[in-house]
Amino acid sequence: MPQIPSLNITDSFQCHFLLFEDLHLLWEKADARVGGKAVLVVDGNVLALHSERIGKAFPADSVNLFELPPGEGSKTTAMWNRILDFAFSSPLKRNTPLIAIGGGVTGDLAGFAAASLMRGLPLYHVPTTLLAMVDSAIGGKTGVNHAFGKNTIGAFYHPRAVLFDTDFLATLPHREWLCGLSEVLKYGYIAEPDLLVEGAALASPKGRTSDRLRSVIERSVRIKSGIVAADAREAGRRAWLNFGHTFGHALETLDNYSNINHGEAVYAGMIAALFISRHMGHDVSDKPLLELKTHYNLDISPYTSSVDELVTLMTHDKKNRDKDIRLVLVSKQGKPMLASVGDQSLLRDAWNYAFDVLS
Ligand code: ADP
Ligand code: ZN
Repeated sequence: MPQIPSLNITDSFQCHFLLFEDLHLLWEKADARVGGKAVLVVDGNVLALHSERIGKAFPADSVNLFELPPGEGSKTTAMWNRILDFAFSSPLKRNTPLIAIGGGVTGDLAGFAAASLMRGLPLYHVPTTLLAMVDSAIGGKTGVNHAFGKNTIGAFYHPRAVLFDTDFLATLPHREWLCGLSEVLKYGYIAEPDLLVEGAALASPKGRTSDRLRSVIERSVRIKSGIVAADAREAGRRAWLNFGHTFGHALETLDNYSNINHGEAVYAGMIAALFISRHMGHDVSDKPLLELKTHYNLDISPYTSSVDELVTLMTHDKKNRDKDIRLVLVSKQGKPMLASVGDQSLLRDAWNYAFDVLS
């Protein structure tokens, strides 16, 4: 039995992190075998690009493979149902492992299937996007979308382990790198300022050395796990993870989830949130973000005349307790704080500033 290096984030957080090892170590781990053939849910693009490595790690006779059509459109109850039917089509036991290989979409959907099958199958995440590695595979959120809203059906369900294999990232498209980078920069502002520098270096291919990738991912995972472990149900501290997101979600909604991806919206959102932080008298710069402007290359022209709509969308954000908007601000790099903002003209100014500097 090979030794699997694992990183226990805290005593109370029972997820093990198997860092940067070959995939087959996961499979050879005893408790991933006892349940018979594993259910492998794999993103279609990832399967096409990495079929050889996945096949080597998970021999065809030991898994049942479900190929997931790529894209957010797969995060539906219909697709969740198809995974359940697929899982039940061969003998399924309470300890049959379910292994999700892909980005955030795969992890959320397959995670929710694992949470619901037999009231919970052992779940293993193999994130293949930077965003999934530094954010969505950590923290136990699973679910699908509904006409009522994004991620409105789901459960908190932690994986047994998350396996990081950075070789997957060799095929990641430029925009997907930037999408994950936004979350790393967020950790720079709410926790470790040095990640603003180290993260920024990942914006271009030459900066993506394996040492840097390893360190940025491991630090991001520790930061998110630490916050989640301290506050698993999203009361106080977990809200810090929403830095840039209250603004970003409004932009994604206005855009109808079409042109702007999550990370791009959060990038613009952090610039707006930092504007408000400065307005409140805090000495915190958005320069580290603006230096990445050409990499993000955001076309915000369709939205600049819709600032009023954006502010209205923010007041409808589900995380607001009353008509004031709860925002995560930054008092200095690495120090988040919560604030209630009732002044809508200030929110408009923040959007106008962000659009101005990004155009
Ligand atoms: P995210 O991880 O950003 O939440 P997705 O799960 O939708 O979002 O993944 C984003 C896109 O990247 C999808 O089209 C997916 O098929 C693709 N993808 C995922 N991992 C890889 C990879 N390692 N190489 C290339 N494309 C990938
Ligand atoms: Zn996010």
